[in-house]
Amino acid sequence: EARGLDVTFRVRRGLVRRVPLRAVRSVDLSIGAGETLGLVGESGSGKSTTGRALLRLIEPERGTIRLDGVDITNASGAELRAVRRRMQMVFQDPYSSLDPSMVIGESIGEPLDVHERLPAARRQQRIIELLEHVRLSGRHLDRYPYEFSGGQRQRIAIARAIALNPRLVVCDEAVSALDVSTQNQVINLLERIQREFGISYLFIAHDLAVVRHIADRVAVMYLGELVETGPKDRLFDRPAHPYTEALLSAVPIPDPQRQRARERIVLQGDVPDALNPPSGCTFHTRCPYAMPVCREVVPEPTEVTGGGMVRCHLQTEGPTLAGGPVTEIS
Ligand code: SF4
Ligand code: MG
Repeated sequence: EARGLDVTFRVRRGLVRRVPLRAVRSVDLSIGAGETLGLVGESGSGKSTTGRALLRLIEPERGTIRLDGVDITNASGAELRAVRRRMQMVFQDPYSSLDPSMVIGESIGEPLDVHERLPAARRQQRIIELLEHVRLSGRHLDRYPYEFSGGQRQRIAIARAIALNPRLVVCDEAVSALDVSTQNQVINLLERIQREFGISYLFIAHDLAVVRHIADRVAVMYLGELVETGPKDRLFDRPAHPYTEALLSAVPIPDPQRQRARERIVLQGDVPDALNPPSGCTFHTRCPYAMPVCREVVPEPTEVTGGGMVRCHLQTEGPTLAGGPVTEIS
């Protein structure tokens, strides 16, 4: 669980000036035991930074992070190591998790060596078990990552991530580089492992069809802020935020009931400079529904009927999205 999470980077502007870039702003999120929270948004919206901050791989500037109810925001030393073993990450590129010069048995055994001192025979047995959990055979132990396909390498990265029985695994675009049938296999594997071990996932992805498949709840990020969260079906069927609606309109999800709503909404303008975000609602420069109030006033999180929250003045000031103001449809 994260409350009021802020992550700020100092970035160079010109020769000497270093200016603050608020990569993650006031993010509140929670993920239940055995639950999958999908995190979506354009690249640069702060998804990966949020995932890393939850794992304490990046220091947040403000906010609190709890794991199993325990405040880990300021954990350090042995306490931080204990926290880290319970939260793992799987990346898009398996080479970020697997050392190409190490046979995979050693890559999977490494976290065990750092956190658990197992006798040699028990360690070997555990590595084979982990490979079997991801449907690979123990006879692969002495092979190098390059000897495997992309999908197999991702399975090996997952075996390494679950070696220490984590509570949370952050999957950062973990299936994005795979072809569709391999994606499905890896997703089925992640779901099976979740059922077996009760692991929670933060599933970061730009592919909304994949998120719709795997997530229980979804959070949408724009310019470092969560603009909408909600149970998957409510969010996909009845998006409450214009940005969510625009993202979804780009996904060809077959649904004859909603043909009209599935027409593509093309957002005007570029993603604003994160160093100098727009005033009021940060989405107002691209929002087809923007009203005068949107430029001035930051929308507060509001509960959505059917579950979740949205930050948008339409909830309180204007018509709702369905049958709402004219949108730019092309
Ligand atoms: Fe659009 Fe205004 Fe809602 Fe922001 S607050 S998303 S600008 S309608
Ligand atoms: Mg990213």
